[in-house]
Amino acid sequence: MAKRKTSDKDAAGAAKSGRAIDGSISEYEALLQRCGEGVIVLGQNGQVERLNQTAASLLHITTSAGVGPMIGDHPYPEDLGALYAEAVHKGHVMNREVRSATFKNSSMIVSIFPIRGKRGSRRRYLLISRDVTELRRLENIRRDFVANVSHELRTPLASIRAMAETLQDGALNDREVSGRFLGTIVTETERLTRIAQDLLILSDAESRQPERALLHMDNLITDVVERSKPQAEKAGIAFSANYPKGLDVMANHDQMEQVLVNLIDNAIKYTPEGGSVYLEAGLGKGSAIVSVTDTGIGMRKKDLMRIFERFYRVDKARSRQSGGTGLGLSIVKHIVESHGGHVSVESVPNEGSTFSFTIPLDVPTGTPAEE
Ligand code: ADP
Repeated sequence: MAKRKTSDKDAAGAAKSGRAIDGSISEYEALLQRCGEGVIVLGQNGQVERLNQTAASLLHITTSAGVGPMIGDHPYPEDLGALYAEAVHKGHVMNREVRSATFKNSSMIVSIFPIRGKRGSRRRYLLISRDVTELRRLENIRRDFVANVSHELRTPLASIRAMAETLQDGALNDREVSGRFLGTIVTETERLTRIAQDLLILSDAESRQPERALLHMDNLITDVVERSKPQAEKAGIAFSANYPKGLDVMANHDQMEQVLVNLIDNAIKYTPEGGSVYLEAGLGKGSAIVSVTDTGIGMRKKDLMRIFERFYRVDKARSRQSGGTGLGLSIVKHIVESHGGHVSVESVPNEGSTFSFTIPLDVPTGTPAEE
C-alpha cells in the first residue's frame, strides 16, 4: 500500500499531542512524562495548557481536569496563582513550598520559570513541582523526637541540679540528708545513662541493615533466660520457658539478644510479686516464633496501639520507678522488622500480656549472610 503524504495539519496535531508523525511518542512528550518532576505548562494568560501525570498525581487531580483552568483556580491551590502573579510581576524564577488544595498534608516545592517567547508576545511559564511530603513527614518525626529526648533528659537533670544546689547551700553537713540526696543523684545519673544507651541502640539499629549470621536461637534463649532468673526471683516471679533444640535462624546475635532482654525485662517489671512469666518458642511457617507471656498488669486496647512509639508509657511514674526509658519496645519493633519479622501483642488489663515476634528462617535476597 502506498504511504500517505504527511500534511501540515497532521504535523500540527502530532506536535500538540506530543506524538511523532509515525505514531511513536516524541522526545518532548517522553521527557515531559518521564522527567520525574511534576511539570505544568502555562499559556500567556496563565491558563494551564498541559501537565504531566506526575503533576496531576501531586495535585490529586486527573490530567484532563487539569487542562483549561487558570493556575490558582479550582482544582489548583490558590498559592499557585499567587506564585504565578509574582513571577509575572518580577519577571524572574520563583520558588515556593505549596500544599495541595485537596490534601493539606501533602507538600510540594514549586519553581516557576518564564519561557522565552516571540518578541513582543506575553511570556508563557513552566511550573516544575517536586513532592516533599515524605521529607516533611520525616522532618516532623525528627523534630518531635528531639523535643521528646530533651524533655526526657530535663527531668533527671533538674533533679540532680536541685539536689546538688541544696547540698551546696549547707545540706552537705547533715549526714542523713546528704546521704539521701547523693543516693538520688546516683539514681538519676543511672537513668540518664540508660536513656543514652537506649538512644544509641535505637540509632544504631536504624542506621544500617543488621549483619546476619546463622544463629542458634535456642542457645541464645537459654543464655538470656538464665541471666534473667535472678531478676525474676528477686521480684518474686516464677519464670519458665519451653523451646525446642535446633531453632536456627539467620539473624544478628546482639540484636536478637536485645529483643529477648527487653521483652523479658518488661514482663518482669510489669508483673506484681507472685505472678509468672513464661517464654515459648518454636517454628511457624518459614519463621521462628517467640512469645513472652506474663500475668502482670496488662494494658487497655487504646494503649496497645501506642506502646511501640518512642517514649510512650502507659503509666509514666511506674515506668520511671522501674527504671524504664520508654524506648524498649520501639527498639524491639525496629530490630524485628529490620529482620523481616513482625511483632504483636495481646493484653487484658489486670490479667496479663503476651508479646510475640517472628524472625524469618531465610535471609531476604540481597542481604549478605555470614557463618
Ligand atoms: P519502658 O522503658 O517504659 O518499659 P517500653 O518501650 O519497654 O518502655 O514499654 C512501653 C510501655 O508499654 C511501658 O511503659 C508500659 O506501660 C507498657 N508495657 C510494656 N511491656 C508491658 C508488659 N509486659 N505489661 C504491661 N505493660 C507493658
